[in-house]
Amino acid sequence: MKVTEHIKNANGKTLFSFEVIPPKKGKNINDLYKNIDPLMEFKPPFIDVTTSREEHVYVNKGNGLLEKRITRMRPGTVGICASIKHKYDVDAIPHLLCGGFTKEETEYVLIDCHYLGIDNVMALRGDAMREESYFTPTKGGNAYASDLVNQIAKLNKGEYLHDGVIVEHKSDFCIGVAGYPEKHMESPSLVTDLKRLKAKVDAGADYVVTQMFFDNNKYFEFVKKAREIGIDIPIIPGIKPIAVKRHLQLLPQVFKIDLPQDLIDAVEDAKDNKAVRQIGTEFAIQQSKELLAAGVPVLHYYSMGKSDNIYAIAKELF
Ligand code: FAD
Repeated sequence: MKVTEHIKNANGKTLFSFEVIPPKKGKNINDLYKNIDPLMEFKPPFIDVTTSREEHVYVNKGNGLLEKRITRMRPGTVGICASIKHKYDVDAIPHLLCGGFTKEETEYVLIDCHYLGIDNVMALRGDAMREESYFTPTKGGNAYASDLVNQIAKLNKGEYLHDGVIVEHKSDFCIGVAGYPEKHMESPSLVTDLKRLKAKVDAGADYVVTQMFFDNNKYFEFVKKAREIGIDIPIIPGIKPIAVKRHLQLLPQVFKIDLPQDLIDAVEDAKDNKAVRQIGTEFAIQQSKELLAAGVPVLHYYSMGKSDNIYAIAKELF
């Protein structure tokens, strides 16, 4: 079922959902299931599965030379979605990236998703590769998420890239896109970034999931500004509980977001990472309670590995 239908059917009740990351190449999917299993108690209508960009690795040729090769460290997003969908009978949402994929490769991924009965896809640009200082579009690929949304929307109308295929059964993907309450790091202003978000909506996006934020006022303000420029689709808040002390540096560095001073002080004073995890969980519970009271459509959690903290949060709220 589409995310928008889940939201409609919930009749104003806030839903619970979360995101998982595919296991590293060579690892077993059972570790992922172990993290998902306990969370099924809270009946998530959908689970997101991320896609990671390709990386360069250097293979020692044995003659003093290194050969640069490209690899994916966490492949298998669509396969994982199919297995989650069939094991738990929930909607699984693959994240699709512009970076690292030609439009043709994207079309084939979408065709696979359609065959597998996947109803939703999350359309993202992706970040720069690790060694790049800024994002460079892949040759033959989409440059911005709005271009990817456009490609998916065209496929929904039965328009394939190159050939005049006679379409008997069109895809009907519900399309999610990313939104940034503290603006995207490359955007010159929040107003400009919101205009880019509007372009994604105009291209056919059906719902937005936000980047993590720790100050609910930033989310409320973002939603207000989005509504003012005519973005009228659901805007789902993304929540990340702080889990280790290093997050104080890592999250602002990677996601260009601010952390509230009281949270920073509490984490800095914590005696170990067990205490940090507890503080992060408590903070996320309070943050979620306020969002719940404001009637957000879904509370979407970034789990990034072990899910015991997400379980503790959901137990308090759902
Ligand atoms: P876009 O919407 O294309 O925006 C990127 C930048 O370009 C913005 O600064 C925007 O303002 C600007 N822009 C947009 N259109 C134009 C235009 N026409 N002209 C000039 N500038 C323009 N990354 C992953 O690698 N894998 C994942 O699974 C993943 N999942 C995510 C899930 C969520 C909910 C979120 C919020 C992010 C996720 N990301 C993921 C990170 C995302 O890929 C990065 O934040 C990326 O840098 C931007 O992606 P986007 O889809 O927002 O890009």
